[in-house]
Amino acid sequence: MIRETGQLQRLNSRFEGTSPSDILKWVLDVYDDKAALSTGFGASGIVLMHQLSLIHPGTSVFYLDTDLLFDETYELMDKIRDRMDIQLVRVRPDYTLQQQEEAYGEKLWETRPDTCCYIRKVLPLKRYLSDKEAWITAIRRDQSPTRQDTPVFSHDENLGVLKVCPIAGWTEDEVWAYIRINDLPFNELHDKGYPSIGCRPCTRPVRQGDDLRAGRWADSDKTECGLHSRNAHPGQSR
Ligand code: SF4
Repeated sequence: MIRETGQLQRLNSRFEGTSPSDILKWVLDVYDDKAALSTGFGASGIVLMHQLSLIHPGTSVFYLDTDLLFDETYELMDKIRDRMDIQLVRVRPDYTLQQQEEAYGEKLWETRPDTCCYIRKVLPLKRYLSDKEAWITAIRRDQSPTRQDTPVFSHDENLGVLKVCPIAGWTEDEVWAYIRINDLPFNELHDKGYPSIGCRPCTRPVRQGDDLRAGRWADSDKTECGLHSRNAHPGQSR
């Protein structure tokens, strides 16, 4: 397992500025089925899924289904299955929405959104990655101030895996140029003012000039669901 600071620095020096596709190839060569790509079906995730499907047709890509995704996101999954040779793996929380309501009360996303994200995203991610060694994710530096220092390679202490962000250095314009050139499907909500799309209760359209993730948890100071935060564990106390 690569986790030492020196090893990570050498990897980052070697791969900074190289193509996401070359980074994906290296990760698959080294980790094979111990590496897993997750997607939230955002624009940069579409790019990585497409590149992965060309490098390794038929490979699995997993997503966290919180049971609260937009209809447009589920429709996009069907379009991706039609367009790309990949297997989408659905990863679900231990609690149904009904069980969560019985345990924590109504609309946990309003009363304790960190706990809601922990139950519906962070714990399922931990479970899925428990037998993996490398987690590939499509976050980018230009998405928000909290992501501006994202390295291509880092060690995720909470998950105990090498975290790989092959598309960290790409811009929004580069991502959309790739999608258009390759005629790839994308979430229809992107054309309705949603540059970043998560769960229905916590996602709004953005205003002109806002950063790309300003529509996520727009009524609170929360900016990340916990998947990409260092201290992501609020606990589940009721
Ligand atoms: S984004 Fe909102 S609804 Fe989705 S898991 Fe987090 S708090 Fe819950």
